Amino acid sequence: MLGQMMHRPLSIIEILRFAAEIHKTAEIVSVRTEGDVHRYTYPDAYARVGQLANALQDMGIEQGDRVATLAWNGYRHFELYYAVSGMGAVCHTINPRLSAEQMVYIIQHAEDRVIFVDTTFVPVIAAIRDQLPSDLKIIVMTDEDHMPESDLPLGCYEDLLAPQAANFDWPELPEDTAAALCYTSGTTGNPKGALYSHRSTVLHAYSVVVGVGAMLSEGARVLPVVPLFHVNAWGLPYTAPMVGASLIFPGGALDGASLFKLMDAEKVSSAWGVPTVWQGLAGEIANQGRNPDGFNSVVVGGSAAPRSMIEGFEKSGVSVCHAWGMTEMSPIGTQGNLPVSVAASATLEERLDLQQLQGRRVHGVELKIVDEDGVPQPHDGEAVGELYVRGNNVISGYFNNEEATADAMDADGWFGTGDIASISTDGYLMIQDRAKDLIKSGGEWISSIDLENVVMGHPDVASCAVIAVPHPKWDERPILVVVPNGEARVSKSEIDEMLLKHVAKWQLPDAIEFVDALPLTATGKVSKLTLRRQFADYQLPE
Ligand code: AMP
Repeated sequence: MLGQMMHRPLSIIEILRFAAEIHKTAEIVSVRTEGDVHRYTYPDAYARVGQLANALQDMGIEQGDRVATLAWNGYRHFELYYAVSGMGAVCHTINPRLSAEQMVYIIQHAEDRVIFVDTTFVPVIAAIRDQLPSDLKIIVMTDEDHMPESDLPLGCYEDLLAPQAANFDWPELPEDTAAALCYTSGTTGNPKGALYSHRSTVLHAYSVVVGVGAMLSEGARVLPVVPLFHVNAWGLPYTAPMVGASLIFPGGALDGASLFKLMDAEKVSSAWGVPTVWQGLAGEIANQGRNPDGFNSVVVGGSAAPRSMIEGFEKSGVSVCHAWGMTEMSPIGTQGNLPVSVAASATLEERLDLQQLQGRRVHGVELKIVDEDGVPQPHDGEAVGELYVRGNNVISGYFNNEEATADAMDADGWFGTGDIASISTDGYLMIQDRAKDLIKSGGEWISSIDLENVVMGHPDVASCAVIAVPHPKWDERPILVVVPNGEARVSKSEIDEMLLKHVAKWQLPDAIEFVDALPLTATGKVSKLTLRRQFADYQLPE
């Protein structure tokens, strides 16, 4: 017997229409490429989103067309998210940190019809213009006064909007309609596209709002440092309007001092981003000797948050939620808020033991770990295996890429994350490594993340990475690559002493090398692939 309830299609534009009606005073504040700060409300945004949809329609954009963006976090980018998917087209966000070759590949692969770019990125497009389709329209996200000089035929965003009415007849779309497209920043091979639907996006937003709780509630002032150009800024453009939180968009200045100033002025309560960004902010907090006014929580993910970073924030009264996810999961799969019973009674050390793990799954996402034969392993905190996921916000395949789809999905329809993990009886996920980054020494595995996590706690270490180098007897051995924090060079014996409290002697790195900087991927993670190449001929000490 079926239930007798209405079936209203889940719809992205419905989130903004709701916010415009119910959360009228929450703000969107943006640091603009023009150099000033812009602010308006959800009703203002909804009106301009209608104007933009009318403009796109006049341009000939139809349902299913891909509309690309190459832009920082700001209100015009937010408007594109809603106008494009609201009219039934697909908002394809492009990561400006991709190589020119990858960018050309994804624009061609996605068959983008128009690309909206911040003034900052006009030179990026100019450099690859002759490799792009000749009919690709280019619109610069600024007003007439700030249009850049260029040989390219450029449209102006504000000129497009100006003559348009705010009313748009939003179509009622089937909820499985494609809404947004984001390519993984694969460091090997070509990037692969995750094609989100209205349904997956709305369900992801519900999961995150429920999971993250108070950090994302009415009245919160949320700073997405995590970019709109990659993985939908962890869903914040959808979750914030849903709950009535304000969004503070930082534009392109993401250094510690700029973030501190913005957060202080705008009374940001919750800031979301990758660990590298929070290292910069923590440095500025130390310089200033205080937290930005109103700052009470940070959501960190994208790569493992070092224990020392979590400890620093927690001790200064800022709660840390350590999340895990990936492009293919919309992206959030787990969140690290502690259960109330634990938070109330645990000591700081006990809390940190849990917070440095990757959190527990959000409702709507299932996790399993499997051995090399695909056999599910117990969630007992001991067994380690490759992590597979299933849920309404997980891709069922890559966009127009059957080969990559076949590689990623198992026979039961679960998606293989490529992460190696264990899961505790209480449901805490512990990511050990990317499958390719694990180090196999004498047939035994060494987790690079475990070692890095401990070493990051040393005051003379600014950042570090552990990689495998070839070894004649053991196949591979770990070495530690350190970016020093100042002049002091931490010694091997000091590092060994720290590590031996946590790992076995045979897991200690064989050597330490110092470098000025670690190579980063387009999403700001350490590129182990590049680092391994740099150290491919490395001679281990006798
Ligand atoms: P992306 O698709 O660019 O978001 O990258 C997803 C990958 O980042 C995951 O498969 C993990 O390897 C890594 N990752 C994300 N969050 C975390 C975390 N909290 N700890 C460790 N690794 C993470």
